[in-house]
Amino acid sequence: MLGDKHETRVKKLRVATASLAGCFGCHMSFLDLDERLLPLLDVIELDSSPLTDIKHCGPCDLGLVEGGLCNSENVYKLRELRASCKILVAVGACAINGGLPAQRNHIDIRDCLQSVYLSGRGTERGFIPNDPELPLPLAKVHPLHDVVKIDYFLAGCPPSADAFFQFLTDLLAGRTPEPVHGLLRYD
Ligand code: SF4
Repeated sequence: MLGDKHETRVKKLRVATASLAGCFGCHMSFLDLDERLLPLLDVIELDSSPLTDIKHCGPCDLGLVEGGLCNSENVYKLRELRASCKILVAVGACAINGGLPAQRNHIDIRDCLQSVYLSGRGTERGFIPNDPELPLPLAKVHPLHDVVKIDYFLAGCPPSADAFFQFLTDLLAGRTPEPVHGLLRYD
């Protein structure tokens, strides 16, 4: 059980988290674990994550990925996570089906960029950014499983803190995490 003093001697689960084309709402929901975070940190440790600001992922037991794929950097980061994490989880609607960013999929990417940077309000002297440092946008926004194998899908927008807790508790206990009716949330 989480927080059991005996478990502090057990090797901790090393966890990476990432936000790709997402809004950080899934990370905020994870932080909604509130007082349950402290006992959780007795049994997990964070690697690369917006929460640690470690940029590159080392070998991990678990990767939690929020957001879909809208540009080349997202794809690079996802492949790094897949190569580094034994278990990879698509967290939230954007990671699972593209979510809100995928609303642009019915618009041609050229029309989309022209509308945002050239013909929209306040873009009189606008130009489409083309600095080579910028990641290239993909023609469509993709869910994670279009590019790498995903082991689990944690549904919700965002998944509730209780859903994160149940998922991690199952995993730490060696059980196969199953979706729990009543913990799914789409608000
Ligand atoms: Fe944000 Fe919802 Fe997407 Fe999570 S699933 S990144 S909360 S829009």
